[in-house]
Amino acid sequence: MTLELDTRQRAMLLAMGIKVWQANVPASQRLVTPTTAAPTAPPTADVATLKALPHGLGEMDWVALADAAAQCQACDLCETRQRSVFASGRPLDAPTHTQWLFITDPPHAEEESAGQLLLHSDGELFVAMLQALGLALEPTQVCVVPVLKCRVPDTRNPLPEELQQCRAFLERQVALLQPQVIVAMGRWAIQSVLSANTPALAQQPLGKLRGQVHRFANTPVVVTYHPSSLLRTPLDKAKAWADLCLAHSLTRRP
Ligand code: SF4
Repeated sequence: MTLELDTRQRAMLLAMGIKVWQANVPASQRLVTPTTAAPTAPPTADVATLKALPHGLGEMDWVALADAAAQCQACDLCETRQRSVFASGRPLDAPTHTQWLFITDPPHAEEESAGQLLLHSDGELFVAMLQALGLALEPTQVCVVPVLKCRVPDTRNPLPEELQQCRAFLERQVALLQPQVIVAMGRWAIQSVLSANTPALAQQPLGKLRGQVHRFANTPVVVTYHPSSLLRTPLDKAKAWADLCLAHSLTRRP
């Protein structure tokens, strides 16, 4: 798939630090063997204590689901959260359908405090990526949700049981949003989404997972780097652009 770019989108790519010639090469040829560390299993010194998920979660609408996440006590993360982060920058009364769903890693402390994901430089890069695709942070086009709705304490990684427990919220969000494509950004987002169907896949290095179309809740999934990782390793931006072009090829034309 070749994504046609206008002058403004090319400027956006340059702002991301991506050479424009990358955009006109078929995605299959642009993929470069990545060197990023694999999503490996987190330390499991802690043992998760799980409780029942909110009753009727599978039938809830968007507002009820957000409220259920705010009240949820289904895993230990409820004890240390200040607030849940259900979706970023999306009014509760927005239309529920969206074209692109971005799933990010769990909210960190500042994101939890703001109730928003992808702050500061992360957000600026993310918006530039969207603009290069001809997208805006507009609810019918883009929705951003965290893989876990509650912050994980700084002293540890998410536990597999927590990712699994909170996946019920994610599955209901996908059912309500009916996105054309999902982009999983970051180690924990990728691990949770791929674990749903193929647990062994989730342990693979990101480099082996990129360039393929996975599935989650009957929706095509492309995996890529979290914006914060791209800011640390700018050389990966071209690979992220290739991932987004692959995702774009999975969307339907209006
Ligand atoms: S992380 Fe998810 S499952 Fe755990 S308490 Fe928060 S909303 Fe519930």
